[in-house]
Amino acid sequence: MDAKTKEEAVSIINALKVNRPELGKYTGVGLYRLFRLVAMEDILGQGASAISYYAGKKLGSELGITSIEEFIDLCTEMKVGIIKAPKVEDDFIHIDVYECVTCDGMEPVGRTLCSFEGGLMAGAIESVTGKRASAKEVSCIGGFGDETCGFDIKIKEK
Ligand SMILES: [Zn+2]
Repeated sequence: MDAKTKEEAVSIINALKVNRPELGKYTGVGLYRLFRLVAMEDILGQGASAISYYAGKKLGSELGITSIEEFIDLCTEMKVGIIKAPKVEDDFIHIDVYECVTCDGMEPVGRTLCSFEGGLMAGAIESVTGKRASAKEVSCIGGFGDETCGFDIKIKEK
C-alpha cells in the first residue's frame, strides 16, 4: 500500500530506527525534559504523572526484556541514567538511578518526577518475572535533592 494513504501506529522497532547521518542517535536531555516535564504537565496537569507511569509500564512490558541485567543494559544504552539494583529479592527490587535523564541537576520542586521511568521498571519486571509489579519512586534527585532517583518495586503473584 502507498505509505501516504496508510496510517498505522508507530511500533517500538520502528521508532528506534534512527537515521541521522550527521546528528546521530542521541539528542539533548533538554528536549526530553521539555516534552516530559513542561509540555505534558502543561496539558495534562496533575494527571501527567499517572499517565506517564502507565505509558512507561505498558512500554516496559512490551520491550521483550527477559532479565533484569538486560533491562539495566538497555537503560544504560539509552542513557536513562546510571542504574544500580542494590536489592533484588523474589518479591522486592530496589533500583537506584544516578544522573537521571528526567531530573538530575534541577532545583528541587518538592515532588517526585520520574514516574515514566518507574513505570518502565515495573513493566520490564513484569515481563521478566511473569508476575505483577508496581514501582514507587521513594527518592528523587530533581524532586527533593536526593542522591538518586530510587524506586521500590513490589512483585506479587498474578
Ligand atoms: Zn527523579
